Amino acid sequence: MKLSAIAAIFGITVSAALTAETFPVTQGKVYKFEKVGEGIYYATGGTGSNNVVIVNDQDVVLVDDGTTPATARALLQDMRLITSKPVRTVVNTHFHYDHTDGNSVFGPEVQIIAHEYLRNAILNFDVLHREPFKTAQSALPGQIESLRKQVAEEKDATKKAALDKQLRDTEAVREQMKEVKPVPPNVTYSSRMTLHKGSREIQLLFLGRGHTGGDTFVYLPKEKIVCTGDEEEGARIAYMGDAFFDEWIATLEELKKLDFTLALGGHGTPFRDKGIITAFQSYLRDIVDQVSRLRKQGVSADEAAKRVDLRAHAKDFSQIQAPGAEIRGVRRIYAWLDEREKR
Ligand SMILES: [Zn+2]
Repeated sequence: MKLSAIAAIFGITVSAALTAETFPVTQGKVYKFEKVGEGIYYATGGTGSNNVVIVNDQDVVLVDDGTTPATARALLQDMRLITSKPVRTVVNTHFHYDHTDGNSVFGPEVQIIAHEYLRNAILNFDVLHREPFKTAQSALPGQIESLRKQVAEEKDATKKAALDKQLRDTEAVREQMKEVKPVPPNVTYSSRMTLHKGSREIQLLFLGRGHTGGDTFVYLPKEKIVCTGDEEEGARIAYMGDAFFDEWIATLEELKKLDFTLALGGHGTPFRDKGIITAFQSYLRDIVDQVSRLRKQGVSADEAAKRVDLRAHAKDFSQIQAPGAEIRGVRRIYAWLDEREKR
């Protein structure tokens, strides 16, 4: 499996766009912190989600906590480089394992806050035996096998060393996944909630279903910064296996109405231009249209995933390099259309 495919599963950013804005950086052992505002850091480089560290007068609010307890511990360790204040609050943007499976490292004194849908999902969806966790876990042995082969065959010393590091990192993730224990949030809300942390105002907003049935936008009105989770990943196509497509497009319209100048996605790189949101809405419309047509023709979901052609969107989303789309997303479009027809 290619690095890009592994990266897609674990949400690792392989390369930032050349045009990406640069922010002051503090580099920890595992996580890199980009200072995007006063006391606000975009944390990348661990296993799973990109996280946002919001340092307030007395304490820290953390947005998402990665795929494994090990990566969450590494994050807390590295955070000592930027603050000595304790994490008192974690916000989970949505239930996917790569944003929530660090939850188990926090004690009961820490508030883990999310939309009520998310608590129900973690308690009742059997998340370790369904997508997207299933593929992430079951793909690991194959990835390790393929990396081993590549390391053995590579002649160039620099490339060999890089592949070897990748191999060791992937093996470490496999071990760390064994420790995963999904922990639901201990505080939930249904439409909005505001945290007043000293002089900082942090709004948790549910703007409608989309990437999942219960995603939270974390909005800092004074700083005009919004954390978008996987509802909106900028120049990156989000996973669609749990999506509600028409509502997703509408929710993104609500997102565009927020007064922000910087958006921090659950994966990808920070962005400012709302035009990329419109581009993603257009991608969503197009994939749903194409898949619906193929479904009407009696084509199977797995075959449709090969046949759809979204290259018209490649100028906005560089990961689109060939016809076809991620199979779990296309299967979800079929299931979602079935659900709609039954209504
Ligand atoms: Zn997700």
